[in-house]
Amino acid sequence: MSQAILVVGGGFSGITAALEAAEVGYDVYIVEKGPYLGGRVMQLNKYFPKLCPPSCGLEIQYQRIKNNPRVKFFTQAEVSKVAGGPGKYTVTVKLTPRHTAAANADLANLAESLSGQQQDSFNLGLAPRKPLFMDVPFAYPSRYVLDSTGLSDDDAKKLAKSPFINLNDSPKDIELEVGAIIIATGWKPYDVTRLSNLGAGSVPNCVSNMQLERLASPNGPTGGAITRPSDGKAPKKICFVQCAGSRDQNHLNFCSYICCMASLKQALYLREQYPDCECTVYYIDMRTPERYDKFLRRVRADEKINLVKGKVAGVAAGPGGDVIVEVEDAVSGIKKKLAYNMVVLATGMQPSLAEAKLPFDVPMDEDGFVIGGEERGIFVAGCAKKPLDVMKSAQSATGAAMKAINSVKGR
Ligand code: SF4
Repeated sequence: MSQAILVVGGGFSGITAALEAAEVGYDVYIVEKGPYLGGRVMQLNKYFPKLCPPSCGLEIQYQRIKNNPRVKFFTQAEVSKVAGGPGKYTVTVKLTPRHTAAANADLANLAESLSGQQQDSFNLGLAPRKPLFMDVPFAYPSRYVLDSTGLSDDDAKKLAKSPFINLNDSPKDIELEVGAIIIATGWKPYDVTRLSNLGAGSVPNCVSNMQLERLASPNGPTGGAITRPSDGKAPKKICFVQCAGSRDQNHLNFCSYICCMASLKQALYLREQYPDCECTVYYIDMRTPERYDKFLRRVRADEKINLVKGKVAGVAAGPGGDVIVEVEDAVSGIKKKLAYNMVVLATGMQPSLAEAKLPFDVPMDEDGFVIGGEERGIFVAGCAKKPLDVMKSAQSATGAAMKAINSVKGR
């Protein structure tokens, strides 16, 4: 029997669950499929409740991990098999090579010298990246990662000369013995290109809310300047389309909880950056739960932010890079076509497990949220359970850690 706990997912909730268990004396393994810990929070410019940058909360968590030998983590790692039962699970984890030395070497110059370019999922397609990269300066582990797929011969030769690169690293499997499992696999932005009427993927200056976070972030592709992807111009008139893919039987059949708050926050980013900029938010219902009502009042007080109850029926490319939005004002009933410099789709949260199942059985609802498993020593934390903000994810993770501890203690 084992008292160790496996945490699947190294985002904010996974890290929190792991630390809560480790700091009261339990061995914990975090298995994260990306190259760094921190998950979606790493991509944000600022997050609630205090609107601090992600480095602020995450660096504290990283420090706690560094100081706690009971937490072991694996990045570029995925659970491929689980055998056994509560108290005695044998978990096989597949490790994808990082190709860089364990030493904390600064490979920025080498990365810059490479000619290859790859799709950058971290920046959500806003800019390409080099094959050798580190997502953000505060990333943890503080090591570059090499994606060796499609390397040119020239780049491969340059990389082979570096003592910090090992091109021959190959995938390997490891086995972990654990007594309980916490699922903290988080969420992903809903693929809004499925909403062809809203212009995502086809109208250049129509971006998702997560793309806007990357544009606003000082370590993003524009260095923090919120500009139009098509021509780099500063927007003067911008609109937000709420519930883009959420509360829709054909897409996400639930409220994503955070996207009203995200749009209000992003309207403030724009107003701080461009004092003359005018923002309009088209919403069905404005959901600002609990103490966030205060934040709504702050936004309402800004005369250049208009909150309009209205349903957007279509988004199309207009002249000069503008975007034409077809909207019906829900109060007056008037339908209009209006031009904006840029449009932001308030994209909802889809659980990561909606399309990428785990290699073990766990009860899920029709949307892909985990809804059971506790009788087998399997617990769920954060947005794998339901849409949550960062603060509530951390609370949920603490709860999952307590339950996991309860299930393994005394074994
Ligand atoms: Fe729509 Fe707001 Fe709910 Fe998001 S939080 S799904 S924008 S009502």
